Amino acid sequence: MPYAISGIMQLLFTSGSPSDTAAIARALGAALRPGDVVALYGDLGAGKTLFCKGVGEALGIPPDRIVSPTFTIVTEHGGGSLPLTHVDVYRLAGPRDAEEIGMREILSGDGVCLVEWADRIEELLPTDCIQVRFSFSDGDRREIAISAPDLPGFDEFRVRSIRFQPGG
Ligand code: ADP
Ligand code: MG
Repeated sequence: MPYAISGIMQLLFTSGSPSDTAAIARALGAALRPGDVVALYGDLGAGKTLFCKGVGEALGIPPDRIVSPTFTIVTEHGGGSLPLTHVDVYRLAGPRDAEEIGMREILSGDGVCLVEWADRIEELLPTDCIQVRFSFSDGDRREIAISAPDLPGFDEFRVRSIRFQPGG
């Protein structure tokens, strides 16, 4: 069930497979607007990159373009309905390194910005970012908690992804 705490909406999802996670991500992607930052939290293999592919797909960016490169921290994807910036800060030591490569500007761009390992640059993230938190459950199951300020498109996202929510 959705609940609101001081203008923040939180939704809980259970994903039973990679395709479920991609479907949840596509539903969120369709609700995103220029300037939105999506912060992704969760351990290695939790599904962050897969989720980014789903968001990209909703924006018209082929999923095979969104990958986990070994050394690239920031990748820009044009050609979709909005410019998409995919950031993976796994290899950065912390917020200071991120600032040196211009992370503040990257996070304040006009498109959609997705940040994997967001906890490593927490203090640089906008306070109104959309947070997606993954945790492992049995086998391929993942619990995904998404919180965001009460965005206009969020209600539509909630309805579109209802089959992955408790009781949905
Ligand atoms: P991260 O970016 O968080 O390290 P990835 O998205 O790269 O994780 O990888 C997730 C891996 O877990 C993939 O190999 C995917 O097939 C597998 N997987 C299994 N079940 C799920 C699920 N329910 N949701 C997302 N990924 C899953
Ligand atoms: Mg990843």
